[in-house]
Amino acid sequence: MTPRVIVTILGTAQDAGIPQAGCSCDRCLNAHNNQNLKKYPVSIGIQGIDGSKHLIEVTRNLPEQLRLWSDEMITQKIFIPDTVTITHLHLGHIEGIGQFGKPVMGIKNMPIYLSEMNKNSIEERNDIQLMIKEKNLKFISRKYHQTFEPKKGCGFTLKLISIPHRSELGDTSAILVKGLQRTLLFMPDQDSWIETFDNYSVNNIREFFKSLEIDLAWIDGTFWSLNELPGRNLSEIPHPTIEDSIRLLGIKKENDPDVSFIHLNHSNPVNDRNSKERKLVESYGWGICKRNKTESL
Ligand SMILES: [Zn+2]
Ligand SMILES: [Zn+2]
Ligand SMILES: [Zn+2]
Repeated sequence: MTPRVIVTILGTAQDAGIPQAGCSCDRCLNAHNNQNLKKYPVSIGIQGIDGSKHLIEVTRNLPEQLRLWSDEMITQKIFIPDTVTITHLHLGHIEGIGQFGKPVMGIKNMPIYLSEMNKNSIEERNDIQLMIKEKNLKFISRKYHQTFEPKKGCGFTLKLISIPHRSELGDTSAILVKGLQRTLLFMPDQDSWIETFDNYSVNNIREFFKSLEIDLAWIDGTFWSLNELPGRNLSEIPHPTIEDSIRLLGIKKENDPDVSFIHLNHSNPVNDRNSKERKLVESYGWGICKRNKTESL
C-alpha cells in the first residue's frame, strides 16, 4: 500500500460548538434533540505515513473527537495522539487540555506545539504549571514560518504562520500542513482579510493563497453575514463573513485551491445542509467543511 498522510475533520463549529450553552435558538434546540445535528468545536487529526497521530486543537469534545477519528480509520482502538499543535489560546481551541492530566488520561509528556508568545502565555497558568510539573504536558514553541516535523518520520511537516486575530491572550497562527503531494492551509480564525493581506504584503485572496503554495484551504467561516446576531455589535466581533469571502473569491477557477469554510457559529445558516446560503457557496465552487471528511495529502 502506498504510504499516505490522512487528514480528518473532527469538528467544524466555532469555539462554542452547537448547541451553544444557554442558547434557545432553533438550531441549538434541534441539536439538543438530534445528536446528528450536534457540532463540535473546530479540530483536525492528521495521521502520518508511520501511523502516528497528530491532533490540531484540543477542544472540550476531545473524547468524542478521538472516537470519531479512530472510527474513520476502521479500528476498535481509540487513538491517543502522539502530538498536539494549537493555533491560539482562545478557550474553544484549548478547552480539552485538562483531559491529558491526572484525573483523566494521565498522559506522559504530550508534546504541544505552539507559537513562542503562546508558550510563554499558557505556561503562566497555575493549572498548566501543575500539569507540566506532573509531566503530562511538554510545550514546544516554534517560530513563525519555521517548518517542522511533529514527529520524525511522520511524512509531513507543519508550519505556523501568523494571522491577525484579537490577541488578548497571546497571538494567532494558521497552520500549513505539507504532505507527500499536497499542502493544506488550516486557518480557523482571523480578524479581517485586509489585515491578513497587509501582513503578507499581498493585494488579494488569490495572491495570498498563491504565496502559501497551497492546494486546499479550510478557512474562517464563523458568520454568514453581519445581520446574524441581533443585539450584538458585530464590528466588535471580528471575522470576515462568508459573504465577504465569497465576494473576494468569486467563482472557482481552474487553478484555484479547494476552499471550504470551517469554525461555524451556531447562528450561521450554512450549518443547515439545505440552506440557500450553503447552496450558494457550493454553486460558486467552494464548500462547507463536514465532520468526518478525510483528505489525503
Ligand atoms: Zn475560534
Ligand atoms: Zn443557538
Ligand atoms: Zn479565536
